[in-house]
Amino acid sequence: MSSPTNAELFARARRVLPGGVSSPVRAFKAVGGSPLFYSSGKGAEFVDAEGMTYLDFVMSWGPLILGHAHESIVAAVSAAAARGTSFGAPCVDEVELAELIVDWHPAAKKVRFVSSGTEAVMSAIRVARGATGRDRILKFSGCYHGHSDSLLVAAGSGLVTFGKPSSAGVPADFARWTSVLELDDENALEHWFDENGAETAVAVIEPVPANNGLLLQRKEYLNTLRELCTKHGTLLLFDEVITGFRLARGGASEVLGITPDLVTFGKVIGGGMPVGAFGGPAAIMDHLAPDGSVYQAGTLSGNPVAMAAGLACLRTLEAQDAWSTLEELGAYLDETLGAVLDDLPFGYSRIGSIFWLAPEGQQPRSAEVLPADLGAAYAELHKSLLERGIYLAPSAYEVAFLSTAHTRADVDRLVDGLVRAAAEVSR
Ligand code: PMP
Repeated sequence: MSSPTNAELFARARRVLPGGVSSPVRAFKAVGGSPLFYSSGKGAEFVDAEGMTYLDFVMSWGPLILGHAHESIVAAVSAAAARGTSFGAPCVDEVELAELIVDWHPAAKKVRFVSSGTEAVMSAIRVARGATGRDRILKFSGCYHGHSDSLLVAAGSGLVTFGKPSSAGVPADFARWTSVLELDDENALEHWFDENGAETAVAVIEPVPANNGLLLQRKEYLNTLRELCTKHGTLLLFDEVITGFRLARGGASEVLGITPDLVTFGKVIGGGMPVGAFGGPAAIMDHLAPDGSVYQAGTLSGNPVAMAAGLACLRTLEAQDAWSTLEELGAYLDETLGAVLDDLPFGYSRIGSIFWLAPEGQQPRSAEVLPADLGAAYAELHKSLLERGIYLAPSAYEVAFLSTAHTRADVDRLVDGLVRAAAEVSR
């Protein structure tokens, strides 16, 4: 019997999984067609259920900084699993991973492990509220922080301070405690803090917003945010779920030279296993139970297999000085794509190993300046790239990732594929 096609698997999946998937963007709604069902991956490539090989620039949306099935992680996971897959009790790797994070990241003096980025941000916000005794939080449009109720919130209309739910199922009464500002606007920040700073527990931002395209911020803007938070006693939370351990040992905080009060991690920290973490100074983190009064817990938190994977990933990054290698590869992408960009119907932005096909001629810094129609043109480009065995994210608003498994030849292949796909789409 021949193996099922992606379309057949998707039809089966749709009968038992809402939308056929376990997370929405995977469903290919923005680009059309059937999602690819991965069957295996090695290095920069994966093989789908139909036996086709693709050059991957999604890399599990960020965790696979060493590529698929890196030997150090496979070995660590196998060995840890053989010792037991879960204890629900402290384990040695958990302490070692925490020590390493505290050593590397400027903001994390103590960390707590959770199992996803969503949980990390949700819990960091709770401890911020508990530590400050304030309820309001501030976020920025164009940033994503997972799917907890307080963060699925969009800006209210006009000059209204209160946010409104951006998802059905989120009570308006929850959303009103979240305020939403546009990025890249110091005046809006100052005005807002003057009015609301004193009642705001925490301002949460992706220091390198990478969930609505790549909206690289001006350093002065982030400095202003840092200063205003300090002035008003509002904690600053850098959501480094994407950037943590990817941009540098000390993440975006190190690269920008700005130390937040709280930091959240996910993705790379688990080497592909479900891990998140949040950290900050003892004065804030000690508000957590069992020592403090802010409750937070998890049966699988600090899971031994996940901790082993995360440790192997971070140690390998350091041993290989991966951050320099990734920056060199990124610079090579700048060079090769830059040389043909004038002839292509899109722009490009990059920081470290994160890049994005931006709107033509733009390097946008806020979600509001993005054109409304990015999706249609991207869908055709995506399809044409797939036919060439190149896998970019199935949405124009998702960034792409380089890993240490990608080579210059892979970058050449991507750029060549983009040139050919763009020519095909324009015909
Ligand atoms: N914060 C950021 C910056 C993210 O990019 C994501 C996921 N893309 C999250 C939080 C949520 O993480 P998770 O999907 O692991 O819940």
